[in-house]
Amino acid sequence: MKKLLSLVIPAFLLLIVTSAQAQQLTLVAMGASKSRIVIPQKATVTEIQAAKVLQDYIQRISGAFLPVEADNIKQQRGEILIGNVNRPELKGVPKDKLGKDGVFIKNTGKSLILTGGSDKGVIYSVYTFLEKYLGCRKYSAAVTYVPKKKTIVLGAINDMQLPAFSYRENFYRDATDPEYQLWHKLDSHVGPGKSEWGYWVHTFETLLSPKDYGQDHPEYFSFYDGKRHAGTVPSWDGAGVQPEAQLCLSNPDVLEIVCKNLQAAIKKNPEAVYWSVSQNDNVNYCRCDNCAALDNKYAAFTPEQKMYSTHGSKYPALGMGSILTFVNKVAQRFPEKIISTLAYQYSRVPPKGIVPAKNVNIMLCSIESARNTTMEKGDTSFSSDLKGWGRLTNNIIIWDYVIRFSNLFAPFPNLRILQPNLQFMSTNRVSAVFEQGNREIGGELAELRAYLIDKLLWDANVNVDEVMNDFLTGYYGKASKQVRKYIDLLHDHNMERSGYKMSIFGKPVLEKELFLSDSLITVYNKLFDEAEKAVSGSPEIVDRVKTARLPVYYAMLEIARDEKTGKRGAFFVAANGAKIPNPAIVNILYDFVYQCVRHNVTRVTEWKTTPLEYLEDYNKFLEMPEKALTKILE
Ligand SMILES: [Zn+2]
Repeated sequence: MKKLLSLVIPAFLLLIVTSAQAQQLTLVAMGASKSRIVIPQKATVTEIQAAKVLQDYIQRISGAFLPVEADNIKQQRGEILIGNVNRPELKGVPKDKLGKDGVFIKNTGKSLILTGGSDKGVIYSVYTFLEKYLGCRKYSAAVTYVPKKKTIVLGAINDMQLPAFSYRENFYRDATDPEYQLWHKLDSHVGPGKSEWGYWVHTFETLLSPKDYGQDHPEYFSFYDGKRHAGTVPSWDGAGVQPEAQLCLSNPDVLEIVCKNLQAAIKKNPEAVYWSVSQNDNVNYCRCDNCAALDNKYAAFTPEQKMYSTHGSKYPALGMGSILTFVNKVAQRFPEKIISTLAYQYSRVPPKGIVPAKNVNIMLCSIESARNTTMEKGDTSFSSDLKGWGRLTNNIIIWDYVIRFSNLFAPFPNLRILQPNLQFMSTNRVSAVFEQGNREIGGELAELRAYLIDKLLWDANVNVDEVMNDFLTGYYGKASKQVRKYIDLLHDHNMERSGYKMSIFGKPVLEKELFLSDSLITVYNKLFDEAEKAVSGSPEIVDRVKTARLPVYYAMLEIARDEKTGKRGAFFVAANGAKIPNPAIVNILYDFVYQCVRHNVTRVTEWKTTPLEYLEDYNKFLEMPEKALTKILE
């Protein structure tokens, strides 16, 4: 029996080796080029860009310079075929399946094909190839890892990838970096590249403003409480004014004016595909007889069943009937464009008896959801609305929120729900996702969060654990184990704790007995001490570890400010009763602010509080006169 096995196994292995060898393709041998990059004679901008990126990285990896040549030269072995080149191998590419952004990578043994969908597929293929097959990484806008290899030999590759969502936006500062954006196959509704979005959100005021029409045509605006509301109110950020209400969508003149203004905007930006025709940021929708009749006709529920209290509305979530009737009419006039509208607050519930036109996109926002449990389980109101919309259309964009906006540096253990949420969206026919992360520089584990989201937006079923470990090892080096332990502990003490809703607007004080307990904070600090020690030979990585630690410091500072005295407080009470700022807290404050300033952190909370303002404010609190302090301590 033993003998038989020993005979059988080598023969079996031989077969594998032979077939793998047949696929082997040498691009570089001992630093010398064995290949060339071929592009179409009339290459597109993206194809040229893709070729140059590949040339650059192969040179950085191996030192070898691969020439870029047009496809009108005679074919030879070892070519890298970029995009739509004139080579027989391209006949085997299933172009119709690749859509806009699909990736196609194949080693035929004779040449390497790097091509993809009609939009950015080809450059996405190059970056995918660099990452998956040559081991390059783009951890952040600033940190790129390029391995060193004198020889590059490819084994068998036959890799076609299609994205989980056709539009993928990760709203993080790093994602505005042009190379980061391409590397991670991200879209963006703001710069630097061309945006697919002409108008983004809350556009009724742009398309028909109270400023232009309020005075002469109050009938264009919402009717409620016995009158028309055609004026403005101070905007929520105090920077200007915003409409006090919405449009009267059943008024035919409103449709004409909106379409005329939209037409003019499209003319200025003809390439944009998505145009938002959506409600202003308030809940004061029109209840004139005609609008109310449409809302009632298409309501899938009685008003009492769906009241939205989250944004202070005293009115039922009944507004979609009149909106969708209106938006469908607009969409009919612009068949080449996608008209996006909000299913938000009073219009979030899917209607019955009316469906969005084919070129209408429904934008749903999950702002109210808890973040320590999945969207499906933790926010049944939202998830049932999404399921309902998924039955009406497959043209849905979710505006999702993935960080803590009120305290950008607070620990926010929601990483374990990112995947189930995106999977849930994907199975309910969501086609586009806008993940609102941190628009500011910095924030809790910003690089890791952005990276995980990048990967999930492309493949909602990716192995998150592997991606995270890969990132941590590359980014934190020998400190990666401790950082991972810290992340695991935070999450272990957070998920689905009964009764606690971790919201995007919370604060560390609310979590001081959960994942920010005194004993856990002690463990976190110990882990970060060890982590810094483990990488003490690499100042650059020590610096990254110090940045990863900032949320622990921030939590300590916020809890100390709240507790004031006692073990976790900001003050010692001396024997004579005097309150002295706790030197440990003071040092943490200085470290926190210094590290933030060093890295150009713009804000500690969304919209306000720079690191120096935070220091100033905290200092005032620490230096509070004894009397005032005694008073607040009482
Ligand atoms: Zn009306």
